[in-house]
Amino acid sequence: MLPESYLSPLHLPFNQSSLGNAFAFRAPDRDPGTDGSWLLLRGAELAVVAREGSLSLPAGALPAGVDRAQALYIGEWQGAPCRVVPFEPGVELPPEIELCGLTSQWPQVSIALLSLGGLAYQVLYWHANSRFCSRCGTEQEWLPGEWGKGCQGCGSHHFPHIHPCIIVVVRRHGEILMTRKAEWQAGRYSLVAGFLDMGECLEEAVVREVREETGVEVENVRYVGSQSWPFPSQLMTGFVADYAGGEIRVEEKELEDARWFPVDDLPKLPPKRSISRYLIDNYKDRD
Ligand SMILES: [Zn+2]
Repeated sequence: MLPESYLSPLHLPFNQSSLGNAFAFRAPDRDPGTDGSWLLLRGAELAVVAREGSLSLPAGALPAGVDRAQALYIGEWQGAPCRVVPFEPGVELPPEIELCGLTSQWPQVSIALLSLGGLAYQVLYWHANSRFCSRCGTEQEWLPGEWGKGCQGCGSHHFPHIHPCIIVVVRRHGEILMTRKAEWQAGRYSLVAGFLDMGECLEEAVVREVREETGVEVENVRYVGSQSWPFPSQLMTGFVADYAGGEIRVEEKELEDARWFPVDDLPKLPPKRSISRYLIDNYKDRD
């Protein structure tokens, strides 16, 4: 159900553009209290209902065993309030509800629902991990009208932590540099990627990560675009770079393999909904 290709990284799933005009992000304390739809999440699985040939969010009464007190308002979806509620594996869902894996290879929902589910996942993750002040340990409360919390003890304000990462397609005369981790599906490769270090700009992180993971030196590092990756809270920034020297030396703590692949004979690739695949499809052999 997801698109076969994307016009630009802006249009990838999990970026807010994918929600179109159907969603307005609002602060949790702005809940109008009226009925709306539910983003019911069990880990990274979203509850959906088949209605008139397409999948949508459940509305009305919550399934037995789902705690209404845990509902968190996140905004308006299709003109009505939308609330996130986590639920436990033990809860028995009514037969009309199906679960969609938000990180599965082929999620069977629209790009808008997938992206909304991702946002809900990220919101719940931060909510659960920010109950207490990281400075003094006192319980926190929502700041009025914001996605932020204030400490009742020391007065600090805390906001969602979003972690920048880089991901890069490195090119060398008709080949690209790809890596794989041992836990991935057999034969599947992806691009060099990693978290930004303190005191580093994104381009510096690209050079360092490629060097650390593969021993290869790169030049002409150019930014392409970015994708929100809400599992749990990354921003993937995509780059293209050119080979500048060095032989492959695999960083064995993190990787099982790293090698150059000819662009007309690539291995199993990441799914099209990811910026890694966008970079491979669009930058493997041209700018
Ligand atoms: Zn505090």
